[in-house]
Amino acid sequence: MSKLPETRLRRLRRTESLRTLTGQPFPTLGKMIWPVFAVEGENQRIEIGSMPGQFRMSADELCRAVEPLAEQGLGGLMLFGVVDEALKDAGGSYAFADNGLVQRTVKTLKAGFPDLTLFTDVCLCGYTDHGHCGALHAGTEIDNDKTLVLLQKVALSHAAAGADGVAPSAMMDGQVAAIRRALETNGYTDTVLMSYSTKFASALYGPFREAAESSPQCGDRKAYQLDPSDPRQALRESKIDEEEGADILMVKPATFYLDVISKVRENTELPLAAYNVSGEYAMIHALANSGGGDLHALARENLAAIQRAGADMILTYWANQYEQIF
Ligand SMILES: [Zn+2]
Repeated sequence: MSKLPETRLRRLRRTESLRTLTGQPFPTLGKMIWPVFAVEGENQRIEIGSMPGQFRMSADELCRAVEPLAEQGLGGLMLFGVVDEALKDAGGSYAFADNGLVQRTVKTLKAGFPDLTLFTDVCLCGYTDHGHCGALHAGTEIDNDKTLVLLQKVALSHAAAGADGVAPSAMMDGQVAAIRRALETNGYTDTVLMSYSTKFASALYGPFREAAESSPQCGDRKAYQLDPSDPRQALRESKIDEEEGADILMVKPATFYLDVISKVRENTELPLAAYNVSGEYAMIHALANSGGGDLHALARENLAAIQRAGADMILTYWANQYEQIF
């Protein structure tokens, strides 16, 4: 019970300086990972309609965009490839092509920014003609264990190209153990494994699917991604990935799942990432565009909330606008 006049919490909120002293720091740029979309060619910089300020870029343009952020101390990049439909097949084989788009882009980025941590997304949905995250065996049923072999190949090809970390996002059972084993037996003992351990079948991925051209052609991803109503399975997934050898866990999306971030945080000593996904980003833009709020204040509040919930690092499209936001 508050006892006036002794207890007056407003004393500590009176000035900006007091508020800063008593509050927690905002996440720094060093805590952010910028998800980027690579395309073929040169001088390619194509804005993604539903994600203002985000572009699909060829490797040269990507380097130009990354340079100032690397100087400011960006935490890292998460690289996705966007490939031509003609390169897609049933098993997503272009995902592990020796000299594929992602593999070449990794080499270019690491040559330009050797000290910047580079993660690659390890999945098949951007490379399969049906758009699912694995190989199918009957109708839209995914063959889990056959997919593990394909994911091992993708991760190895990224590690061989020089990625600092690989991030499997397919939500197949056993994918972390399979990739860890493949990395170890092939001598990639320093490659960090960031698992999309706790990835929900969310309705917030729409803008990303436009960016990465990775929508499933039939069915949905509910048979492998987590059900939004099941926080217990979310915890089991993160626990199992830790046992299988993940170095970093992840909750995706972030803003609608702050409770899950907190629970995973309490249940592991591993570093925890949260993916502030495309729909969260687009939502804030929509609100600001409608005159309903200040874009940068909304972004600041969103990022602070994700950190407060317990994320150590945030994958976020706001990373390339850090200076304007904070
Ligand atoms: Zn996928």
